[in-house]
Amino acid sequence: MNKYSFCPDCGIRYVEPSGWPRTCPNGHIMWKNPIPVVSLLVPVKGGLLLVRRSPIAQVAPNGLTFPGGYLDHREETWQEAAVRELKEETHVTLPADLIREYRVVSKPGKYVFIYGICVEQSQTDWPAFTTTDETSERIIAGLERIDELPWEVDRAVMRHYFAARQ
Ligand SMILES: [Zn+2]
Repeated sequence: MNKYSFCPDCGIRYVEPSGWPRTCPNGHIMWKNPIPVVSLLVPVKGGLLLVRRSPIAQVAPNGLTFPGGYLDHREETWQEAAVRELKEETHVTLPADLIREYRVVSKPGKYVFIYGICVEQSQTDWPAFTTTDETSERIIAGLERIDELPWEVDRAVMRHYFAARQ
């Protein structure tokens, strides 16, 4: 069963679902674009802000990662998505215009990871952490915790960040 056998706009089955883009009998065109995922590096006291994923997350439960996620709305810039996810996952608020690009990495076949960064932040201004639907902990960490990051793309960014600081 081909995963992309039906038009997402009208539900009709493609006649010859082989190449990309696909056009359904009603004329809807579907491209197989990668999905952008945004992550945010927040430097704090020589470390980086990380979140621990929920113990009931379907993928990588309890793993450490940077705050981030999918862009929810096509009206939302990636910087706005980064600070929205930061607030949802850590309760920390930052203005989107403080976010600069740090690195962009393709994972062939599915994702484009956009890593943003802001200037050094102070935890003293932050509200207390409470568990969220997605995160169970908010921590500041360096390379000593890198083995707790389940994704190589995150580990590569973390190694690059700390190597550049030396
Ligand atoms: Zn269609």
